[in-house]
Amino acid sequence: MKTKTRVRFAPSPTGYLHIGGLRTALYDYLFAQKNGGDFVLKIEDTDRKRFVEGAVENLISSLDFLGLERNEGVFQQASIKNDNIQAIESKSYPGVLEVGEFGPYIQSEKLEVYKKYAEQLVADGHAYYCFCEPERLEEMRSEQTALKRPPIYDQYCLNNITPAEINAKLKENCSYTIRLKIPKDETIEFEDAVRGKVKFETNLVDDQVLLKSDGFPTYHLANVIDDHDMQITHVIRGEEWLSSVPKHILLYRFFGWAPPTFAHLPLLLNADKSKLSKRQGDVAVEDYIKKGYLKEAIINFVAFLGWNPGNGETQEIFTLSELVDRFDFAHVHKGGAVFDIKKLDWINAQWIKKIPISDLYQRSLEFLQTKDFYVNAPEEKKSEIYLKKILGIERGRLLRLSAVGEDSHFLFKKEIHYDGELLRWKECEDAETRKSLELSKNVLEKMDDNFFEFDPDSQMENDGLKRIMETFMRVAEDNFTDDAGKVDRGKLLWPLRVALTGEQRSSSPFEVAQILGKVESISRIEMAIKKIN
Ligand code: GLU
Repeated sequence: MKTKTRVRFAPSPTGYLHIGGLRTALYDYLFAQKNGGDFVLKIEDTDRKRFVEGAVENLISSLDFLGLERNEGVFQQASIKNDNIQAIESKSYPGVLEVGEFGPYIQSEKLEVYKKYAEQLVADGHAYYCFCEPERLEEMRSEQTALKRPPIYDQYCLNNITPAEINAKLKENCSYTIRLKIPKDETIEFEDAVRGKVKFETNLVDDQVLLKSDGFPTYHLANVIDDHDMQITHVIRGEEWLSSVPKHILLYRFFGWAPPTFAHLPLLLNADKSKLSKRQGDVAVEDYIKKGYLKEAIINFVAFLGWNPGNGETQEIFTLSELVDRFDFAHVHKGGAVFDIKKLDWINAQWIKKIPISDLYQRSLEFLQTKDFYVNAPEEKKSEIYLKKILGIERGRLLRLSAVGEDSHFLFKKEIHYDGELLRWKECEDAETRKSLELSKNVLEKMDDNFFEFDPDSQMENDGLKRIMETFMRVAEDNFTDDAGKVDRGKLLWPLRVALTGEQRSSSPFEVAQILGKVESISRIEMAIKKIN
């Protein structure tokens, strides 16, 4: 019988979801979905010095927001879709729930289990007590570093302390750690799903501390025990964990368990190929969300950080479910993956164009609410339909939702203010500019009211806009064609556009006029004519 694929994301709650963490979680999700497997979220919170209050909740919310659903592990009430799911309140984090039969899914709730296994390793001769003081270890490390040797524990406590002495020290409650006894002169070999065959010489591997003096396990011990307890079949994680694998493989061997398949994902790099910056603003997923990147774009972009669909595929915009179809380890790269913010902007712009306007509207509101031009706008310029119309003209050029409305601020104002000089097209005289504006006013007055009515939700072509444009183009031809037959459309359209927007650069006057409507467009033109007089 084929065993069910089970993967886990095992973040440490040190603050926020890191872009690298998201990539691991995404590949976990894709691989589990593709193979009809389970995706588990567990929390590695044994390093109390790095623990940050609220981080567990934050990780869960970020994954929920991005749509990376899990089958098992830690949840919040809001992330549980099915009422029939049995969830128990976690002991350590109020409001955090645990779902599944292989828990606890939070390491700090399993301390007794880890301790028992560490003691079993000692009893079996695969681990030993170490009573070395931190000062001694520090001195040893400095000497080794000075000699340019890798810092490796010298096995003092393995070789110099008798069992009787150990018992006595334990009885006296002396502080101790438990270390893994790495066998000498062995080559540990394994097949990584991304990197292929990988080898490590045990002589270069440190006798890793498994249980710390505070009774907490280290990452290595807890991670292996959990992955076994939770029946994890594939361990997917960043390349920085590759050198831990020999320790893990030895632990699996000493416990008599079969190791899972390992898949180590390439390092993330800055554009200059240095290791990806650690500045929170650059790597925290929540900050990208706050900057106005869509979840679809973030997922799409992160999927390509170290993977591509291969087979000469040129498509770059993928939904989550399309990614599930395409994903496999054969197309995960070995070399580092460059984090290119321009690429993210481009993908985001594609997604802003792609999602339905009603969705774009819903997602834009929170960003609009931070802008003075929106807050101070009259109510009729905040209506759903009006905003959707604005989004309709902006979405073609918008890179991030945080900039929403900025290029159209004149559409939120009752009155616009600008220097009348801006109305002048090239070398035109005032009289010509006035004539042009009066012409536009006349054209608008005679225009069919229907041209100004359109449904921004409709997928159909905006016919009114086409008609407004055609009308003005014809008027330009009729009035501003020189003797050589050349039309200077700017003579009509420049003053018109400035009159409607007050801006040097903006969307086309047809789009703006259609959104403002006939009456307001005419009154803005009248204002402009006054500026010239
Ligand atoms: N807690 C580790 C991390 O923060 C997990 C590594 C692993 O997946 O084994 O990345």
